[in-house]
Amino acid sequence: MDIPRWVCLVILLAQLCATCHSSDSSVSSNGSPEQSQKLLDFAKSRDFSEWMIGIRRKIHENPELGYEEFETSKLIRSELDKMGIRYKHPLAVTGVVGFIGTGKPPFVALRADMDALLLQEMVEWEHKSKVPGKMHACGHDAHVAMLLGAAKILREHQEEIRGTVVLVFQPAEEGGGGAKKMIEAGALENVDAIFGLHVAPHLPVGVVASRPGPLLAGSGFFEAVISGKGGHAAIPQHSIDPILAASSVVVSLQHLISREADPLDSQVVTVAKFQGGGAYNVIPDSVTIGGTFRAFSKESFTHLKQRIEEVVTRQAAVQRCHATVHFFSEEKPFFPTTINDEHLHKHFEKVAGELLGSHKINDMQPLMGSEDFSFYQEVIPGYFFFLGVGDNKSERYEWVHSPLFQINEDGLPYGSALHASMAISYLLDQHRKFLSAEGGGHDEL
Ligand SMILES: [Zn+2]
Ligand SMILES: [Zn+2]
Repeated sequence: MDIPRWVCLVILLAQLCATCHSSDSSVSSNGSPEQSQKLLDFAKSRDFSEWMIGIRRKIHENPELGYEEFETSKLIRSELDKMGIRYKHPLAVTGVVGFIGTGKPPFVALRADMDALLLQEMVEWEHKSKVPGKMHACGHDAHVAMLLGAAKILREHQEEIRGTVVLVFQPAEEGGGGAKKMIEAGALENVDAIFGLHVAPHLPVGVVASRPGPLLAGSGFFEAVISGKGGHAAIPQHSIDPILAASSVVVSLQHLISREADPLDSQVVTVAKFQGGGAYNVIPDSVTIGGTFRAFSKESFTHLKQRIEEVVTRQAAVQRCHATVHFFSEEKPFFPTTINDEHLHKHFEKVAGELLGSHKINDMQPLMGSEDFSFYQEVIPGYFFFLGVGDNKSERYEWVHSPLFQINEDGLPYGSALHASMAISYLLDQHRKFLSAEGGGHDEL
């Protein structure tokens, strides 16, 4: 039987395409689910995941607070050295920025935070924190391990990277605004987009969650000193009682949300600190209160800040006290709202869908928690999502910032594969856009 000429041509073209792909994209760069799966399998392989878990445990045993992550930073640099990845250091005291790929545009960044919390670990396990009063209770140890994991995957598949992946290891997420300082130090230079993730103990391993638009609230802290006149507790007429004044202030602050804010515009004011007095029979000179305030819009946030100051000073004055309010805007900069870019959300859905299956992507409601990842999103498009590290055998979990917080380390390969896949795929899309804008097309064969 004779084969028609057009059939020969089709076979020839098919062979040509197969050759292009085999030399051009062995992992996820062509975005097929099978190739994404290969990337995840690589991350889940025994040697690889054991190496990543080892790093996480090492950091967990030696938690360091914001801007003090010297050993963590050293460990990161030594792993990058072993992989032959060049980096800049120090940025923002302990920060490290690594570079993988061509060194040329486009640039995409992946971010991990490094700091621990002032908290005594209560989980009894082999790798419990060795530093009294400090604990990785927000999973930033896992974030570092997963970004190093992504670095290793990317290094293994360097020829697939159509641009440059920037690895951002930042200090001081927990209130210190490390992201802001990293930006000031030039971490986002030339970067087109940034991705970040956070471990989520309420989600099973292999599940992710996020949403486009506002995800986490803008947040700030305040502290007020309410001063009166101390004296004998049995002769109150000779004193000016700051305890009573501070109590009225706390109650009045709650009216800002219940009576002044639009019920459909989510906001929070919480007084979490109340310190004053030390004896049962002495009225103290002063009381210190402090807390946090949250809102999604800039207008609501600014209004809340102004009203907190007014309510504290004026309500204290009603009780003949004097009050001063501090907002720590230098030491604890206000966090902007975390707002996910709509286009990057589609990118996330595509990549996570290929890697995990679209049924493993949960839509989530916005949370009143906050993240300093939002500083990056003020400068360039960014996307932040949550990664399941729950115990798949039990529905019980401890939320982040609990002394009993634990993660399921089986979730780490998913984080590193997602990081790497998001970056490779993003750069490939940008590369293709560039080629089509240039009128080229041979790379699409
Ligand atoms: Zn935290
Ligand atoms: Zn955190």
